[in-house]
Amino acid sequence: MKQNQFDVIVVGSGAGGGVVAGELAYGGREVLLLEIGDHHPTESFRRWEVKATRDLFWPVRFAPLPDGDVLTLLSGRCVGGTTTINTKVGLRAHARDVAKWHAATGLTNNQGEPFPVEELEPYYDRVEHLLGVRERDDWDKCVYTAQAGFRALGAELKPVRSYTDADCMRYGSCIQGCPTGAGKSTMNTYIARAIDSAALDLRTGARVERVIIEDSGGGPRAVGIEYADATGKLHTVRASFVVVAAGALNTPQLLLRSGLANPSIGRHLGLHPLRLVYGLFDEPQDAHRVYPISAHCMKYRHDEDGGFVIEASTVMDPIAFATTIRDENGPFWGPQLVEAMRAYRHWNGLLAMVNDENNASVIVDADGRERFEVDFQPREQERLAAAMRFSREVLEAAGAKKVCWTGVIATHVQGSCRMGDDPARSVVDRNCETHEVKGLFVGDASLVPRTLSVNPSLTVMALATRLAEHLEMAMSGELAAA
Ligand SMILES: Cc1cc2nc3c(=O)[nH]c(=O)nc-3n(C[C@H](O)[C@H](O)[C@H](O)COP(=O)(O)OP(=O)(O)OC[C@H]3O[C@@H](n4cnc5c(N)ncnc54)[C@H](O)[C@@H]3O)c2cc1C
Ligand code: SF4
Repeated sequence: MKQNQFDVIVVGSGAGGGVVAGELAYGGREVLLLEIGDHHPTESFRRWEVKATRDLFWPVRFAPLPDGDVLTLLSGRCVGGTTTINTKVGLRAHARDVAKWHAATGLTNNQGEPFPVEELEPYYDRVEHLLGVRERDDWDKCVYTAQAGFRALGAELKPVRSYTDADCMRYGSCIQGCPTGAGKSTMNTYIARAIDSAALDLRTGARVERVIIEDSGGGPRAVGIEYADATGKLHTVRASFVVVAAGALNTPQLLLRSGLANPSIGRHLGLHPLRLVYGLFDEPQDAHRVYPISAHCMKYRHDEDGGFVIEASTVMDPIAFATTIRDENGPFWGPQLVEAMRAYRHWNGLLAMVNDENNASVIVDADGRERFEVDFQPREQERLAAAMRFSREVLEAAGAKKVCWTGVIATHVQGSCRMGDDPARSVVDRNCETHEVKGLFVGDASLVPRTLSVNPSLTVMALATRLAEHLEMAMSGELAAA
């Protein structure tokens, strides 16, 4: 393979980039995959919170909230991106979630119809097959404890589907990297398979600085990228197509730094905000020693029913737990914190996540620094309050003698370079190509036009599979013929 000229360059190796690069390279295309993080193989994963936070996560980012609090933004920075440190819940979007996309950006399919969920089905099928998505009904005690509370309130927990195989030991270190390999990431599936086939050039510690755009008469076109290696040395690499899949917080920054000017870049960021809500029980729950999200309650998932989903059961590992637990009087400190930590095994936790309406932004200021703004509207605030109220009632009905919670966290960022037919309301077209620059594609969660009511990674991977198919057709000449 030539060192500086490729068929496709992909920036970012997470749910989106890992799939686009893996699919194309496995099919024989010359692909360069650039990842700012390092490659940490399965054998290196330990349940060591601080080390994992340093090695596998993007340094924690924050956004100020209008009430003076802050929202915490979490994502992965390693090969596999956030899929290496996520909890592997693998759910398809609901038709009603996807119906919002057309309203948001005018998105249609190739027949000109409002983009339907059926468009994604063949791609969901492929992703589920490659990741081995299966139902998790192997629940532990803490889930059954929570189930009693849901039932008392007329609701029900059901098994989730997840990309974890039968080797899962249910010990709960998913967000420090799965040490058994049971949890599937793009690293141990798509990328591993493409590296084995020798077609993929993976460069780690590679910070992509900008997309190179030239105009030789036919309008602006992406012809390559510039990246800094781990020593800071700059490299220029060229390709027929460039796919930016640096995640919904980074992709808009890279497009702006490359000179794109579409005002939608970085706007309409969806956060799918969540809180962990903890209940203290007399009996040990050991909610830190389970597959973290084996069940969910979908009764209130649609906006008209409440607009939130509750997942069960999990508590954060001790450092994250201790540094985020709070109640109506604020964060725990001193003897109150010591007491809470002494009872660590007795806490059971629900994860309450809320449909938002994409009212956040990624901003690059005049000095080139990133900033995140959140402008929750009353409807979104009400959903956050309702999800919290319901979680509290569930835990109390299940027997909790005290209820505490975390601040608002975003792990499912999406929508900051959304896909649509209308260039005034979107950044890329239905094929994920930017409206402004030919040959430049977005291939990650930034594409999702409106926040989904479920965990987004399966949809991100389905969209990435669809993009890989489009690029393959473009390279094989099939697209031109069609
Ligand atoms: C703790 C946690 C748990 C989660 N659990 C679930 C779950 O159970 N189910 C689910 O569906 N979703 C879950 N998610 C969300 C899910 O993992 C993400 O939605 C998904 O991974 C997003 O894919 P992406 O390709 O947009 O970004 P990412 O997967 O974040 O990948 C982006 C990659 O780009 C790299 N990058 C960024 N900038 C540059 C640059 N300039 N140069 C080179 N590389 C760059 C990053 O390092 C990263 O590796 C979870 C997220 C978190 C944080
Ligand atoms: S609970 Fe299962 S998927 Fe999670 S880290 Fe343990 S073995 Fe891996």
